[in-house]
Amino acid sequence: MVFQRFSMVLVLFAALPVALLGQAQSTAKPKPHVVVIGVNGMELDVIRPLLLEGKMPNLSSVIKRGAYGKLRTVSAPNCPRVYSTFFTSTKPEEHGVTGFIVGGITANTNMLKQEPIWSMLSKNGVTVGMANVPATFPVMPVNGYMISGMLTRGKNCEDGVLCAPKLSEVQGGDAVYPPAMKAELLKNVGDFYIDCERMPSAADLKGHETEAIDAWLNKVQLIRDQQTQLFDYLLTRHPTEFTWLGQSCEDRTGHWLYPIAPYNAGYNPKINAVRTEAFPDQYIAFDKVLGAVLKHVDDNTYVLIVSDHGIKPLREFEETDPHAHMDHEKTTPVVAKHDFADGDDVPGSFFAMGPGIKHDLRLMGFAASVYDLAPTILHIYGIQQPAQMRGHVLSEIFENSENKVAQK
Ligand SMILES: [Zn+2]
Repeated sequence: MVFQRFSMVLVLFAALPVALLGQAQSTAKPKPHVVVIGVNGMELDVIRPLLLEGKMPNLSSVIKRGAYGKLRTVSAPNCPRVYSTFFTSTKPEEHGVTGFIVGGITANTNMLKQEPIWSMLSKNGVTVGMANVPATFPVMPVNGYMISGMLTRGKNCEDGVLCAPKLSEVQGGDAVYPPAMKAELLKNVGDFYIDCERMPSAADLKGHETEAIDAWLNKVQLIRDQQTQLFDYLLTRHPTEFTWLGQSCEDRTGHWLYPIAPYNAGYNPKINAVRTEAFPDQYIAFDKVLGAVLKHVDDNTYVLIVSDHGIKPLREFEETDPHAHMDHEKTTPVVAKHDFADGDDVPGSFFAMGPGIKHDLRLMGFAASVYDLAPTILHIYGIQQPAQMRGHVLSEIFENSENKVAQK
């Protein structure tokens, strides 16, 4: 079984003190630095006007200095399904994490049947740091640290689906590797929320729509502020060669506060006419998170910003689709979704900059897919792509096929 093959190697990391792993790098040739920022549900239709208006200066700067485009996603895309494809470059049926709930159980890392990229990098001596990345609970041993994201279970979030347990309230598995790092984070960052706030129920909203929307948006921003502080702490105190950070509030907001028109399915003026800027504002807020991360990035660092899918207003014919947003809303009156049967209706997005990456390059059509992220990262580190990976190295984004590797 594939899982056993890669978990055995990771046991070695579990046995090594973190400090020793850090020292092991000091005599070796410097490795490239890569920072991946994952955004759950980045909708280019909403982002483009914001870029034009100059409201996302940090993302604009990445676009000018790099390559960007749509990212072809899988069918009926949702977060765990696509993230596990990012991790393994294999199909959902191959890696096993086919959705939020698999065989009646909330998706978790023990279900992964293909080796994830953090394991491959760790085995090759690359230091790895991951925080708030979806579908990484319970955390797995790496050559560095891992703090879980979406699908972390805890108090008031027992099923782990689209809710926000505090770090101290996590149950049913570890949210932090190595375990000793948890106390350090509680002391220096605080008892931060993992993932993002649960969407309000129809009953919570009825008769209190404006108050419920405002309270929810305030909580979302509190969570984002805490996570920004966490990222800043990790990048300052625990720099790693490979770092993957995640954000998940954008998608959640889009599901019920997408700025739709009265002719769209599900329009309710008591909700959809109240805070029409709420969803675009999420991306403006994300841009500030990106700015905080970019402060830690130098010209020799690769920055890859990826989204697992977009999100679009509901369509009338989707009401009879058995996949229709079943995992997400419970009773929240959703007005937008992403698990359309045709994933090309809601492509993700991809932005890349770094040494040897072309400037101001737009990838046309579906030149890049969610399968290509892991092979491209392995390529940057000079690690051969394993046979099971279905994606390809995005060689078109590099100035030459033998891309320049960061000189430190
Ligand atoms: Zn969603």
